[in-house]
Amino acid sequence: MLFVGLTGGIGSGKSTVSSRLTELGAVVIDADRLAREVVEPGAPGLAQIAKRFGDEVLQADGTLDRPALGAIVFADPEARRDLERITHPRIAELTAQARAAAPREAIVVHDMPLLVETGLAANYDLVLIVDASEQVRLDRLVRDRGMAVEDARARIAAQATDEQRRAVADVVLDNNGTREQLLAQVDAVWRERLAPYNAELVAKAGEASGS
Ligand code: ADP
Repeated sequence: MLFVGLTGGIGSGKSTVSSRLTELGAVVIDADRLAREVVEPGAPGLAQIAKRFGDEVLQADGTLDRPALGAIVFADPEARRDLERITHPRIAELTAQARAAAPREAIVVHDMPLLVETGLAANYDLVLIVDASEQVRLDRLVRDRGMAVEDARARIAAQATDEQRRAVADVVLDNNGTREQLLAQVDAVWRERLAPYNAELVAKAGEASGS
């Protein structure tokens, strides 16, 4: 099993790459999805959040009021750490479960927006970064997602810089061009880097187990 970390700044094209990798046969673990799962109604994470932050972070139907919680932790680093102490271990557990459930010979891709910010790069066999200039990302977020320019700018500013991401990258996918150019790069990386690397690891694991 090859364990690949995939990240990129907001609007870089990370989701586009992730979908392509799924088409190529990767088992993709979506960090955002798992982060939502641990705060779903009925999940112990949500109960703990309500205990720490009060019922004002819950909506009338019992689901998490994300903007309300976001406003609290944005303004208070201590509150943010408390929230992370509740959610991170549970997300890590679900990630480990998803990894353990994947076939031995799978290429497993962890689609992780905050890979660089959380200092996780060393956990992967290989780190893939999707790179696009800030201006290109701003244009796409405003055009395709209807985000206000200032909102898009603030979100970009809250993330790691392009330099910080490139510093931990094994492979950088350049998404300043067309979608087709991006997909061609993904296909080439799959063929030339990920598949051979994985074949090597699978062969080694086979030797080690004597099969
Ligand atoms: P991320 O997951 O990194 O936020 P997405 O893959 O959702 O980024 O891409 C952001 C937006 O830009 C999407 O609407 C996507 O369709 C569009 N997009 C991605 N790559 C390109 C490209 N090369 N040319 C034009 N639009 C693109």
